[in-house]
Amino acid sequence: MTKVVIVGGVAGGMSAATRLRRLQEDAEIIIFEKGPYVSFANCGLPYYVSGEISDRDQLLVQTPESLKARFNLDVRPYHEVIAINPEMKTVTVKNNVGTLEETYDKLILSPGASPFVPPMTGLDEATNVFSLRNVPDLDAIMKQLEEKGTAETVVIGAGF
Ligand SMILES: Cc1cc2nc3c(=O)[nH]c(=O)nc-3n(C[C@H](O)[C@H](O)[C@H](O)COP(=O)(O)OP(=O)(O)OC[C@H]3O[C@@H](n4cnc5c(N)ncnc54)[C@H](O)[C@@H]3O)c2cc1C
Repeated sequence: MTKVVIVGGVAGGMSAATRLRRLQEDAEIIIFEKGPYVSFANCGLPYYVSGEISDRDQLLVQTPESLKARFNLDVRPYHEVIAINPEMKTVTVKNNVGTLEETYDKLILSPGASPFVPPMTGLDEATNVFSLRNVPDLDAIMKQLEEKGTAETVVIGAGF
């Protein structure tokens, strides 16, 4: 039985995991996700800010429980892979209790990206500057909007 460890539990990681399950029914598949949520709808995040999506739960497409039930995946949120030991074929993982070692036969890395925030004077002191990449980012934006309203908002970066 092949044991596969996947780092990152959103679009890439979870697509790999579910595809692998279809190809190998008996593989052991463990997904480590450092954040609180897996398989969430990144593309829907802006629509929750604008109100087109009004129910936050609609962004949370799957849970570790549903992925276990449907695909027999071992999904572990709040687990950050902090080291890879290729010779031993192990990863070192940090969670809220401490660190642990997990062995693998195959390792898939899908850790995504992070917003590029250029160095700007004053940014370190500012408390009202946000990026939007995941659900905790979204919650921080919504909290600010609820508490302070939308009187003046500046968007830096006009890509997609
Ligand atoms: C606001 C927004 C809107 C978007 N809209 C669209 C759209 O309309 N159409 C479209 O095609 N694409 C859209 N995208 C892009 C799309 O969401 C990304 O291309 C896709 O999410 C990338 O998937 P990924 O799995 O590579 O990375 P991610 O989705 O970033 O997932 C990587 C995961 O790995 C985790 N991770 C990182 N390092 C570690 C570690 N060491 N240990 C454990 N876990 C780790 C991260 O916490 C993260 O959850 C949008 C993205 C955003 C942010």
